[in-house]
Amino acid sequence: MRAVRFESDGSVKVVPMPTPGPGPEDVLVQVLAAGVCRTDLHLLDDVRAGRREPLVPGHEIAGRIVKVGADVYMANPKDVVVVHFEQPCGECRRCRQKKTNLCQRGSSLGFNEPGGYAEYVRARQTTVLALPPDFDPALAAPLGCSGATAFRAVVTLGQAEREDLVVVVGTGGVGLSAIQIARVQEARVLGVDTREEARRAAVEAGADAAVPPTEAARTAEAMSGGAGADVVVDFVGTAATFTLAKSLLGYGGRLVPVAVGEEPIPVTSGDLVEGGKAYLGAYSTTMADLARTVALAESGRLKPVVSKRAPLSDAARVLDDLAGGRIVGRAVLEPPRT
Ligand SMILES: [Zn+2]
Ligand SMILES: [Zn+2]
Repeated sequence: MRAVRFESDGSVKVVPMPTPGPGPEDVLVQVLAAGVCRTDLHLLDDVRAGRREPLVPGHEIAGRIVKVGADVYMANPKDVVVVHFEQPCGECRRCRQKKTNLCQRGSSLGFNEPGGYAEYVRARQTTVLALPPDFDPALAAPLGCSGATAFRAVVTLGQAEREDLVVVVGTGGVGLSAIQIARVQEARVLGVDTREEARRAAVEAGADAAVPPTEAARTAEAMSGGAGADVVVDFVGTAATFTLAKSLLGYGGRLVPVAVGEEPIPVTSGDLVEGGKAYLGAYSTTMADLARTVALAESGRLKPVVSKRAPLSDAARVLDDLAGGRIVGRAVLEPPRT
């Protein structure tokens, strides 16, 4: 098969590779669509800097099952599926608790196992979900990372519900999904972003208002009748956004940081104790998060924004466009359908 590989000299190459054979509990998926995530750019940097071995990226994957292992009972050949990139071990304490996002003995497609920038990918049977027959794989692929991440932040961790005020800081790709999901929960939604086009997209996605950071406090105050926000999701992860996010929380509020930031931020125990607030880091997602995200998309209540489709051989150019800020929404690679 052909696959795209990040090489140690920083190049992005289409290379021939052996098609993986499924193990007893694995399925072999012919990739129909692979989402291009910003994380892939970080991986390319890591490979170039020698912090990672060369790898086949792609952790937002949809495709058709073409082969199943001897002990597979949860999937069938010809099923069109979305694949969860996390391949948990299935046996550790975290896996038994269904906290598969915390499994430290598994692997991750597109990180330390070959991912979806390829004609075929191998996955465990427990990590694929069948899609309805008329569901466009290009729209399904981004649910695997960005869609499920937004769901986990707003619902699983944020526990957003009717009449809550949900503030989404950073209304780019994943933020727009978070806004749609908060609307499904019947919450009121405030988007915060420095970029005017991102604020416009936030309102189009269903936010009641979208403002620059300087106006966030006043607007959140007005929208909540002075009570503050119930949920603040920070998709940016700078000292400035975290500080803003924590200042917006009302009593009982949940702050959900999603991006990995490194700037130090002063936090006192009083910030958490006063009003019983919680900070909940969003670390990857589970199959439950993905399944519920797919259900929202199936019912038309979550619409992933796929703005560009390109052949697998264009991976280098698409990554370059993403790095240069020339892609709004999601780009998806489509391997040739043989
Ligand atoms: Zn991703
Ligand atoms: Zn495990």
